[in-house]
Amino acid sequence: MIKILANDGIDPIGKELLEKAGFSVDTQNIPQEQLASRLNEYDAITVRSATKVRKELIDACPNLKLIGRGGVGMDNIDVDYALSKGLAVVNTPAASSLSVAELVFAHLFTGCRFLQDANRKMPVEGDTKFNDLKKAYAKGIELRGKTIGILGFGRIGREVAKTALGLGMEVLAYDLYSFNPEVELSFPGASKVKVTVKTATKEELLKNSDFISVHTPAVEKPEIGAAEFELMKKGAALVNASRGGVVDEQALLAALENGKLGFAGLDVFENEPKPAEALLKHPRISLTPHIGASTNEAQERIGVELSNLIIDIFKN
Ligand code: NAD
Repeated sequence: MIKILANDGIDPIGKELLEKAGFSVDTQNIPQEQLASRLNEYDAITVRSATKVRKELIDACPNLKLIGRGGVGMDNIDVDYALSKGLAVVNTPAASSLSVAELVFAHLFTGCRFLQDANRKMPVEGDTKFNDLKKAYAKGIELRGKTIGILGFGRIGREVAKTALGLGMEVLAYDLYSFNPEVELSFPGASKVKVTVKTATKEELLKNSDFISVHTPAVEKPEIGAAEFELMKKGAALVNASRGGVVDEQALLAALENGKLGFAGLDVFENEPKPAEALLKHPRISLTPHIGASTNEAQERIGVELSNLIIDIFKN
């Protein structure tokens, strides 16, 4: 029987699919440091972003035949090495795009209305300063009519564009490679509408956007650093739900301090899962612990897609 370790969990529907196909699925979470001595009894491991599958672990487990990543980013897996050793490596790139895009807007609405700060400072009984606080939150802003710049117009970037258009925002899109600027909006009970968004150079996008959302892959060098913050409109806002390190955190904090940046929404950050205290406590940063794909719908899609890929590989 094919034995699968779903070390970072798997949606029950995905587990059921694998079991119906005759595989055994173990959902215990084996600590990273014990994996090298225990993973060899399994044929496959599935992970999300927490478990790392590096060269040393692959070398320690010659029985392992498949690594499955529930989600997109493969930066926690030594993919090329695994492939060179004859392992199959699969992921589910599109399953979480909509959920990540919706989280971008959760951060945007949060920042526009100071929710992260207002929430922390709700008055306790006897507190007399609440009226002053309400004044501090009186300068909220609306999204409709504003421009959102989308850096990286791939799967998630395109979903962000669709939601932005639905909200009545103007979209500026930039990608390193040539891309189709047309997106299709579908409204329940109504017909589909195709919209062509404006394209821009990176510099034009940074200069002209009220909100910037970054959707590029993990990189060695930050995509957004001091020079990029300098180009932005005064009071612009930035959301990063891509990967920690894509935005330079020191430059981001400096831009918040010098007033260039109005607010930031971060689902990813350096040193995950523990954010720097300066980010965590900042009144103009809305921070989430890498939960872009953490919705029932995305997890179900991920589980089903991953299970079908695994079944295909072992049965063919
Ligand atoms: P994708 O591959 O579909 O899109 C990425 C786009 O970025 C591509 O169109 C690519 O051409 C473009 N690109 C690459 N380098 C660029 C650069 N230097 N400048 C501009 N564009 C560049 O990927 P995706 O599925 O849209 O994912 C985007 C990011 O979101 C990835 O970093 C992924 O790891 C991350 N992600 C985060 C979560 C989360 O939970 N927060 C969940 C899923 C994915």
